[in-house]
Amino acid sequence: MQGTILILDGVSTNRIMLKVQLSAAYYHVVQSDGLQGLLALARRCRPDLIVTAMNLPDGSALAVRDLMQQDESLRHVPIIAVTAQSDPAARLSALAGGIDDVLCQPLDDLILQARIRSLIRARSGTEELHLREAPSATLGFSEPTANFAMPAQVALLTRDAATGSVWRARLKGLTRHRLQSHQMSDIHALMADPVPDAIVVDLTGAQAQQGLRLVADLRARSMTSHAALIAVVPAAAPHLAADALDRGAHDVLQSGFCPEELSLRLNSQLRRKASSDRLRASVRDGLRAAVRDPMTGLYNRRYALPHLAAIAGKAAETAGSFAVMLADLDHFKQINDRHGHQTGDAVLIEAARRLKSQLRPIDMIARVGGEEFLIVMPNTDQAAATVTADRLCRQINALPFHCPGTGEEIHVTTSIGVVVGTPAGSDPDLSPEQYATALMGQADRALYGAKGSGRNQVSLVSAAA
Ligand code: GH3
Ligand code: MG
Ligand code: MG
Repeated sequence: MQGTILILDGVSTNRIMLKVQLSAAYYHVVQSDGLQGLLALARRCRPDLIVTAMNLPDGSALAVRDLMQQDESLRHVPIIAVTAQSDPAARLSALAGGIDDVLCQPLDDLILQARIRSLIRARSGTEELHLREAPSATLGFSEPTANFAMPAQVALLTRDAATGSVWRARLKGLTRHRLQSHQMSDIHALMADPVPDAIVVDLTGAQAQQGLRLVADLRARSMTSHAALIAVVPAAAPHLAADALDRGAHDVLQSGFCPEELSLRLNSQLRRKASSDRLRASVRDGLRAAVRDPMTGLYNRRYALPHLAAIAGKAAETAGSFAVMLADLDHFKQINDRHGHQTGDAVLIEAARRLKSQLRPIDMIARVGGEEFLIVMPNTDQAAATVTADRLCRQINALPFHCPGTGEEIHVTTSIGVVVGTPAGSDPDLSPEQYATALMGQADRALYGAKGSGRNQVSLVSAAA
């Protein structure tokens, strides 16, 4: 099953026809004739989408929307309203009221199916993000979606410059968003402008096929893949509208350019984009936080060990060598004891910064213990590892650390244990994880050696040892 669709219509033949149409496309269909008992029904069947008659025996499509708003888990379910005849004013007020689309009887199967696919696709993308989002952030997101706080950047991509200026002029008084217009043939100019939040693509001219390819292209490019995409198709061109939706347009104006309708659709698409941007950012922050040490900003142990195993696995495939280092600050407990824990923290942050400054972007440094750092350097042989470890040591001991607040100077040193992993040194029976653990043990023994020999120095063991 592709999803569950709830059909609402007071006329049973309408319901039956729609049910046949949707069941043929493998949707699970649930139906009802009005608002009575609707909320309970929706809670039970958890629809992915609602198709409702604009006018029900006991209310309207907007009343359906209001009912769904009462339940947190149903408030984002998309709603398509179906009208008996085309009534532009009713259509605009439904869109303004938060109905996702208004389709006219008799329902064109192509456009209906494409519309349903695009709404369900957009919704399942959002739901997946919700599942991956950190639980704490979910609380912030479940507030009613805010409006686009800033005026958004909207690009109009039209078949020619004249159409672009007409559209712009007619839209101007209706929207507070910043409008730019470009010709469809010059996509470079679009890319050179500030990244648009929404792009309106003109499919009303002879170059509709080119416009369709452009829709797919804009969805695929990383710069525009998250922009809201709205296609404008001429009236009575359901194939074109369906194609545009299937190529990735979020929304379509099905009866040519109408500034009022475009302004409403822009607002609702920009609202959707703002909440999905926010959701994506919170997933990204959550993922980032999960692998970072908040104090130093370095990776944490949870990230570092699988990373080391991955480097070990890759080195085995490519027959390359790599370095593993454990750096532990010397007599750190004394620093805490003499200057206080807060100063100790400041020393850790500065030490992390100094160590990181000596590494290449492909190297990985993590804080794996209180004052202990793990460094993994791919494609590094013993000679290069020794040179780098000596440099790390000097980077810590050469210049004193300044105590924040008091301005006192603290002399800090570190000991470093180094081991170079080579494919030859690993037992072929060991998994990369086991080999990584073995290397950590060897680096730790080397570190212990450096401490025993008087600290503030590097000790290297060869992997075969
Ligand atoms: P050694 O030269 O043998 O490494 O001696 P050391 O004093 O550095 O080692 P030890 O393991 O005895 O002490 C480490 C200290 O680091 C003890 C602990 O209180 C302190 N420490 C651990 N995490 C933090 C932290 O996040 N902030 C601060 N300020 N201190 C920490
Ligand atoms: Mg220490
Ligand atoms: Mg320690």
